[in-house]
Amino acid sequence: MTPSEQTAVSVLVIDDERDIRDGCERFLRRLGCAVAKAPDGGAGLQAMEKSPADIVLLDLKMPGMDGLEVLKKLRQFHPQVLVIVITGYATVETAIEAMKLGAYDFLPKPFQPDHLRLTVGRAMERLRLTRETERLEQERQQTLADLAGEQSRLRTVIRALPMGILVTQPDGKVVLHNPTFCQMTGLAPDSPSGRDITNYLNEPKVHELARCVSQQKQNNSDDPEAVEFVTKQGRNLLAQATPVLGDGGASLGAVLVFIDVTPYRMLDQLRQEFVAKVSHELRSPLSTILLQLTLLLGEEGAAPIKGHRHLLVRARERTQGLISFVRDLLDLSRLENGGGAAAEPVEVSLEKTLTSVIEALSDQAQSREMELSLDLPQGPLPMLRADPVGLESVFTNLTANAINYSPDGSKVKIRAWCEGDSLKVTVSDQGFGIEPEKVGLIFDKFYRVKNEKTRYVTGTGLGLPIVKSVVQSLGGSVEVDSELGKGSTFTVTLPAKPV
Ligand code: ADP
Repeated sequence: MTPSEQTAVSVLVIDDERDIRDGCERFLRRLGCAVAKAPDGGAGLQAMEKSPADIVLLDLKMPGMDGLEVLKKLRQFHPQVLVIVITGYATVETAIEAMKLGAYDFLPKPFQPDHLRLTVGRAMERLRLTRETERLEQERQQTLADLAGEQSRLRTVIRALPMGILVTQPDGKVVLHNPTFCQMTGLAPDSPSGRDITNYLNEPKVHELARCVSQQKQNNSDDPEAVEFVTKQGRNLLAQATPVLGDGGASLGAVLVFIDVTPYRMLDQLRQEFVAKVSHELRSPLSTILLQLTLLLGEEGAAPIKGHRHLLVRARERTQGLISFVRDLLDLSRLENGGGAAAEPVEVSLEKTLTSVIEALSDQAQSREMELSLDLPQGPLPMLRADPVGLESVFTNLTANAINYSPDGSKVKIRAWCEGDSLKVTVSDQGFGIEPEKVGLIFDKFYRVKNEKTRYVTGTGLGLPIVKSVVQSLGGSVEVDSELGKGSTFTVTLPAKPV
């Protein structure tokens, strides 16, 4: 026992003989104990009330309250205390009785210091062991509490993860899954663990993945095995699996992580469509130009064939179409990359913008005997703050569409007016109109309505997306009202900015 452990022990000596009390005190202090003394049972119990001792040396034969009585009370009120009874040879029976009542040991009178040291030393050792046991128990409780805390933290983290988690045993039994997994796969949110993986996911590829990975002997976490599949809800999920290895390297199962890759797949598809569309749009006019130029140039070394001016004209038209397609593409990508109304906004007159649009398209309208009119209010309209080029492209696109998707000889009307804090412009035609189910698609990039009437109209499907982007960047909106065979009206609403 170390000195510090010895000092920690307190002893109370209850004996009516002063010599014994003092002798014990001297000796026990030398052992490192803190010692208190009491001349009778009553004083002893009082001393215990004030400051409970670890060990009590109790004389059984005392005047007044006798030792056994004191022992009973000590056992009752201080069950932890180790009581060593001191007794004369004549009272061995009483000593036995005392042991039955719960005394820890006994010390026959008269006793030598060695005898006292031995008996008290035993009690101290017992005390040390009890304290050590208590400390270990406390530590164990703490470890369990830590473990429980750790587990609940881990559970919270797994529940909150944005990816689905499924943990399986080598026999395919699911031991853990999180709510994200349920949500991704359409499983009921409160589905309990414990069943075979086939009950959680109807995807043989994933079952096989879990099975294979569970048999692996090493953890390749840098390059986990993965499969991709589409759920019933149409989501693209990527399942990555890593084995869980035990101490001896044996596999305990697999952890499967599910990541929703739907947005990436959609982007991929859009990119593919974009590339296909762009290459298609570029290829056919380029082929035409190539063919026509080849014809014009004739055989190698021969003079170009005369009288083929119309071919040159057509080649020029196609080239122009190509250039405007590329310009639209560039405009759109500029707008989508946050360029908004690219140039610094300035004050723009809507009347002037619309008049210039009409002027620019009047030749085209006349060539098809169409009437192009502009209806403006009596008084001046409030000025707008916008990029003039962007604003003009909005109404040029809408008016050019109205002309292109209308029969020869019909009317196209542009009307502008002020309504509350907004400026409204409508572009109406008496053209082919748009099928109701396609109206929602015409502002999508590259979307073109394909039917008998529109097939001869050249276009890129980028005009309306540009219109929408510019109008939105000005804080406005664009709507369409169309009836098949009767015509369409596009309405642009812009916030007025009075000067
Ligand atoms: P583009 O005109 O180059 O094809 P847009 O984005 O300007 O591309 O228009 C998308 C589609 O919307 C057109 O292909 C056409 O089918 C339809 N559309 C646009 N404006 C009109 C209109 N005024 N009348 C009928 N259809 C229209």
